[in-house]
Amino acid sequence: MNFFLARSRALRWALVAAFLVLPSTSIAQLAASVGYTISLASPEQHLVEVQIILPAGTAQRELQLPVWNALYQIRDFAQYVNWIRAKDRSGVPLVVGEINKSRWVISGAEGGAIVEYQIYVDSPGPFNAQLNTHHAFFNLAQILMYAVDARSAAQQVRFSHLPAGWQIATPLTPSGDRFSAANYDRLVDSPVEIGDFQESDFDESGGNFRVIVDADSADYEMSKIVAALHKIVAAATTWMNDRPFDTYMFIYHFPHGPAGGGMEHAFSTAIDLNADSIKQSLDALTSITAHEFFHLWNVKRIRPQTLEPVDYTRENYTRALWFSEGVTSTAEGTIELRAGLLDEKQYLYRLGEQITELERRPAHRTQSAEESSLDAWLEGNGYYRRPERSISYYNKGELLGVVLDLAVREASHGQASLREVLQWMNANYAKKGRFFNDSAGVRAAAEAVSHADLSSFFNEFVSGTDEIPWDDCFRSVGLRVETISNTVADAGFTASRNFDGPMSVGAVTPGSEAERAGLRVGDVIVELQGRPAGQESREELNRLNPGETLRVKIQSRRGGNRELRWKVGSRQEVSYEVRNLDQVTVEQRERRLAWLKGEAQDGIDGSESVGTGK
Ligand SMILES: [Zn+2]
Repeated sequence: MNFFLARSRALRWALVAAFLVLPSTSIAQLAASVGYTISLASPEQHLVEVQIILPAGTAQRELQLPVWNALYQIRDFAQYVNWIRAKDRSGVPLVVGEINKSRWVISGAEGGAIVEYQIYVDSPGPFNAQLNTHHAFFNLAQILMYAVDARSAAQQVRFSHLPAGWQIATPLTPSGDRFSAANYDRLVDSPVEIGDFQESDFDESGGNFRVIVDADSADYEMSKIVAALHKIVAAATTWMNDRPFDTYMFIYHFPHGPAGGGMEHAFSTAIDLNADSIKQSLDALTSITAHEFFHLWNVKRIRPQTLEPVDYTRENYTRALWFSEGVTSTAEGTIELRAGLLDEKQYLYRLGEQITELERRPAHRTQSAEESSLDAWLEGNGYYRRPERSISYYNKGELLGVVLDLAVREASHGQASLREVLQWMNANYAKKGRFFNDSAGVRAAAEAVSHADLSSFFNEFVSGTDEIPWDDCFRSVGLRVETISNTVADAGFTASRNFDGPMSVGAVTPGSEAERAGLRVGDVIVELQGRPAGQESREELNRLNPGETLRVKIQSRRGGNRELRWKVGSRQEVSYEVRNLDQVTVEQRERRLAWLKGEAQDGIDGSESVGTGK
């Protein structure tokens, strides 16, 4: 590369100062790449220091810290950057100017530059970044600025000042004491766990899998987790008839406290679950793992055009989350059925719960699945989450996946199913390096495999808010949806917590006893029934009976604590259950077996059973 001949001094500097330890074959690659060093020197203070070595280039170099990552929410990670400075390769300070809250410009960087900054990271969970005395977990987009002119260049990262005994786990490719990635997007799609974790690995379906668990070893059994992962991996790869990777990493945290979430990546997933729930049952772990694992196809490779290229500087609007998230939840159910981790009864029960969740939200008549996808960026706001304002694209999308599956089966006379839709999208989009055109791209796939016009399905239920005619949808598989009405306790208010913040009142039912007692929106709930408000408060409220006296200590918006008391009221609550038709024909039963296996009907033997239960 003539780059080196023209700038031999810079190369010599680079060789001596930074890259001496590398094998010679990687020097050329490294010198043209962006090199990061992440120092873990201050775990007690949750402070990470990042050094970026920019290769030579233009004099003015812009650096951007993403404003969002992992969650579809603007989180402005720049708020945690304490300071930033830069120097040239001989140590002469360079001017750093701020362009906006998340972007800086370095001047005089034609010979390359060394940029250093300090960032505070102490947010737990798979969507976050954290350094403390126990471990480090990084979504790298939250801590690494990218060189705007070198986002597609090769990237190298190394971690320094690790506390004694800490190891590094990441799906990134190791090279010497560093890890490399083809570009910034790939780099930051690779979570990093650093600490004293437990590790296991296994081979399945031709791939190699690493399992990293950062938790108290008394809270889980690695062998049971690995056994479940074998089943999930085998069920998913055979269902998709594809394994687009050689290695894949599962990272788990089981904290004692609030937890529950998973984040998908192309070659890994990071999942947090509460330790007590893991001790009782692995059900939550298998469900969330099946979901995140399926994302390696749906959203990471079968990817909507509207999310590409990622814009790290602002909201990325997409109408496709009903498919990318919701239909991933549909696939999660199918994978669990195929893996024998769920049986028919449990599956139909869960389906009823999903229908209940959608039908109970009045917003299902006003917000479409596509609008819910676009509005994902509002989810951090309490009002937006109210049932009259929004539906969940997970919830409606999962049901749309089920209903689309049944519609494709009916239109194709059992010759095709959701499986063929997904495999068609994998073959025609993912494998060809194309992105799909949101709902129109899904429709194209569904119509290609069913040879039918599905425009009314997409117009009415995906971009529209028509009521889904459940009984019509499920008749072909011998099922109907029963509406059940129950009298339940009604405390007269709803309250929620933002992460581990205080519980505050989001809504008070007009005319309720709660309103008459003086409860107001925005009041902070300090105590409930004499116990401090916290994680268990929701269950506490669910246990109430109509007529019971509720004692709530509040801190009002006007200041001061006071106790309010009122009698719990009641209301009618509707729920839905998926049940057998009175008469289930042999054909309906055969269609149901094929549906629960996630397979088209060709070659289905009606006597086969589905799932073995947990
Ligand atoms: Zn998901």
